[in-house]
Order: sequence, then C-alpha cells, then structure tokens
Amino acid sequence: MAINCPRCKDRSLNHSRIEADLPALSCDGCGGSLLSLLAYRHWRENQPDADASASGAQELAEVQDTSVALCCPKCQHFMTKFRVSADAGNQIDLCVHCDEAWLDRGEWQLLDQLALSGRLTQVFTQPWQNRVRSTEAERRAEQRWSERLGADYARARELREWLRDSASARDILAYVNQVREEIPR
Ligand SMILES: [Zn+2]
Ligand SMILES: [Zn+2]
Repeated sequence: MAINCPRCKDRSLNHSRIEADLPALSCDGCGGSLLSLLAYRHWRENQPDADASASGAQELAEVQDTSVALCCPKCQHFMTKFRVSADAGNQIDLCVHCDEAWLDRGEWQLLDQLALSGRLTQVFTQPWQNRVRSTEAERRAEQRWSERLGADYARARELREWLRDSASARDILAYVNQVREEIPR
C-alpha cells in the first residue's frame, strides 16, 4: 500500500536512504523523509565511531520547516511537533503512536550532530523540551534587560559574569551597593 507524503498529500513516499545504512521513506516533491525511530535506533547502535566523527562545526542546512500540523501518513493521527533547540527554530514532527518522525528537507543534515551522538530520540522527551523552553525564557529576559540598559548592557553583563565567578561576590555586591544612597531617585 502506498504511503502518501504528509506535506504534499498527493505524492507517495519512496524507499530511500538518508544514510548509507539508514532506510527511510522520502518524498520526491518536498524532499522530506519519514524516519522510523526503530530504524534510527538500530542504525545508531551500529555507529561505534559516531561520537568521534560528529563534526563540531556543523553548517546549518537549509530547512523548509513545516509549520502546519501534519497527519501521520501511516495511522492518520496528528503528529506532535518537538523543538530541537532554542537556536534552531525548526521542529520535528513525530507520530507518538507509530514512532515515526517526519524530517523536512535538510533537517537530517541539521540534526546530523544530534543524530550521530544518539540524542535524536532525546529531543522527544519532556526534559529536552523543558530545557528548550527555559533557554528561550532566559533569552527573552536577557533581551528585556538589554533593551532596558541600552548602551550599558554589555558592561553590566560583563560585571555579572565576573561576579558569578568570584568567591567574594557577596562582599563585592555589598561594597558596590553603597552607591545606592548616592543615586538620585
Ligand atoms: Zn512531499
Ligand atoms: Zn502514526
């Protein structure tokens, strides 16, 4: 039975390989691939050197991310979107019923490092998703401070980082805090 592309809908997926020994079903139209996490885990177990070969400087592949909700082409349930990181805006769609992930064109390349280190499946866990959210919240807070402090932000940040590393941070703060009395309200 033909399985249709969840994005293009009217195109059927073809057997392909996203790595030499990692089979998937891919769409010739949009370039996306349906990857079974079972196949992924199997592939990962046979990559003994993967961690060593994961390139530190991965170039960001061009990804055409799907923002609309997708239906799993196997069971027709809605797929769940998972953020990969606070840096990368893209999301991976996963059918939690079939354990099939939909990777948009270029997404595997983007995930290369995660995939090689065997962490691709961790993306779909609550702790990972929580971490992405808290990193984003921190960034938004940082952005607000940057707007509030303007030109002084860089120095203030530097001071904060320096205090963080300092064993006498409390004393320094107490010392610095003396100027409070002199600051006009
Ligand atoms: Zn397609
Ligand atoms: Zn499914």
